[in-house]
Amino acid sequence: MMPCFAAENTLGRLTKWLRLLGFDTLYAGDLTGKKFIDTLENDRILLTRTLRIRNQFASRMMIFIESNHLEPQLKQIFRELGLTADQTRPFSRCLQCNVPIVAVSKNVLWGRIPDFIFETHDYFNQCPQCKRVFWPGSHTRKSLAKIRQLLDFQRS
Ligand SMILES: [Zn+2]
Repeated sequence: MMPCFAAENTLGRLTKWLRLLGFDTLYAGDLTGKKFIDTLENDRILLTRTLRIRNQFASRMMIFIESNHLEPQLKQIFRELGLTADQTRPFSRCLQCNVPIVAVSKNVLWGRIPDFIFETHDYFNQCPQCKRVFWPGSHTRKSLAKIRQLLDFQRS
């Protein structure tokens, strides 16, 4: 089973990348630290950079993120949880809503996506919440390259 996370509001970029890799990751947004943490399930791993939070909630599952930078942050999480590349599911989750995207029939998309995309693709996914449509290639080359790079660090 994939671990799930809850990130405090200083970790927006990390949240986006965990979701991109398929991890269920709640994000504090505008909630205060304590209010946010009090709503979490016990098996949700808290990601924090705040010493006060680390001390106050020492009894719960938590990773105290050490770096300011994305790659070392992801590396730390993978290392501490012993995660490997085959435990990720890149592009399976909506980055905005944090819900799994689901296959959607091509027929219902006519007129809702660019014509050339409709004509050149057969398989589409959609976010059940925000209704955004995804197809192979709808994620930028840059994200794909970055993901490969991120997952490769574990093998080295
Ligand atoms: Zn969405």
